[in-house]
Amino acid sequence: MTVGFYRITDHICRECRGRILERVDVPGGGFRCSNCGATVTKAVEELCACGMRIESAADLGFRCEPNPEPTFKFPHEIIVRKRTPEDTAAATKQIAIPLR
Ligand SMILES: [Zn+2]
Ligand SMILES: [Zn+2]
Repeated sequence: MTVGFYRITDHICRECRGRILERVDVPGGGFRCSNCGATVTKAVEELCACGMRIESAADLGFRCEPNPEPTFKFPHEIIVRKRTPEDTAAATKQIAIPLR
């Protein structure tokens, strides 16, 4: 068992959907799944659903996001959702709004 100080992140493990923790008591402490114990050293995307890639390294479009509607059956605070073309269009529109 590793003893250290961890911060809870808004990302979940791509293997088991457990919440990912960031070790903060040592510089470059890395990330650890609170459920299965998988660890990575560089970036949370190495472990979370945001970083899921196919062999050609193409982004599969999955992102960790807050659950918009937690229910008794599905109470998870953070869920994985696949980005749709509409999301991409909305994001592009937001960027295109001129600043006043
Ligand atoms: Zn895990
Ligand atoms: Zn993520």
